[in-house]
Amino acid sequence: MAKDYYKLLGAEKNASQDDLKKAFRKLAHQYHPDKTGGDDSKFKEINEAYQVLGDEQKRAKYDQYGSAAFDGSQGGGGGFSGGFDFSGFQNAGGFEDLGEMFGDMFGGGSRRGRQRGGDIQVDVDLSFHDAVFGIEKEVTLTKPFTCERCGGTAAEPGSKMKTCTGCSGKGVKVSATRTMFGTFQTKSTCGDCDGQGEQPEKMCTNCSGSGVKKEKKTFQVSIPSGVDDGATLRIRGAGEAVKGGESGDLFIRLHVKTDARFEREGSTIFSIAKIGFTQAALGATIEVDTVDGLEKLEIPAGTQTGTEFRIRGKGIPNGRSRGDHAVMVELVTPTKLSREQKQMLTELDLKS
Ligand SMILES: [Zn+2]
Ligand SMILES: [Zn+2]
Repeated sequence: MAKDYYKLLGAEKNASQDDLKKAFRKLAHQYHPDKTGGDDSKFKEINEAYQVLGDEQKRAKYDQYGSAAFDGSQGGGGGFSGGFDFSGFQNAGGFEDLGEMFGDMFGGGSRRGRQRGGDIQVDVDLSFHDAVFGIEKEVTLTKPFTCERCGGTAAEPGSKMKTCTGCSGKGVKVSATRTMFGTFQTKSTCGDCDGQGEQPEKMCTNCSGSGVKKEKKTFQVSIPSGVDDGATLRIRGAGEAVKGGESGDLFIRLHVKTDARFEREGSTIFSIAKIGFTQAALGATIEVDTVDGLEKLEIPAGTQTGTEFRIRGKGIPNGRSRGDHAVMVELVTPTKLSREQKQMLTELDLKS
């Protein structure tokens, strides 16, 4: 699944890093899922594009090899396809930037400097039937989980805490920049202790002090009834874990396979039933294929081709109710008639 990251950002191939950043900010602002008119999947795509193009080294790699270079395609396991290279995207600046960016824009700023694990997107294929009724699906992810030994604290259980050597216990690092206007001091959160001022004396042996461990695990995901093709489910906190911050989210994009028997529009399922001339003229009880199995349908005498009948409550679940199954009858004109049948029809001499 090659993606054109430049196109996603609406930028030219020779755009400057600054222009890419501007384009990304504008689109991210527009599609942010917390805003009205936002679009989760679009937002994800833009973010993915910028995480690559916004980094000069990754951009060069992308220019040479395309998006495949960033596509793990690790596959494997229960309906999970098109995997991301999780490590490749981890904290590459996208969401972290956004937290700051929206803080700046809306005056919030509360998320500034706080770590957030990366989001993950997976694709799940569903049959038409499963999309109607919902199903439990297995999703296999290889991603950083919170370390089970230290619970994400990075300290070996039982280890004492000591003053952080990186910041002498202040929790912040101060750097001075000399310019022609004077000396500016910049304070930033200490990365060695995440601003806590303390470090464990002994780091966790399971995660080497990172607080997270990359593992492959399989989840059960409940796909609700009535979902449509292209819908995205969001599971908060099921994305990548990160030390000292909240985990990212898991986005599950659903792909519903078509079923030759059915068409779907909103909460209504449509199908076609072929009937014979005698059935149409005299009326009949026919059997119609629905997602609930075969259903009986009364065709009244004198039914014209193209007439639509409704079977109530056999469509797509919509909240607590269900839509209808609409059947359009198609009159089939006989092509192989015996001499006797031909004789009888000639005698009937039916005309419109
Ligand atoms: Zn650990
Ligand atoms: Zn520190």
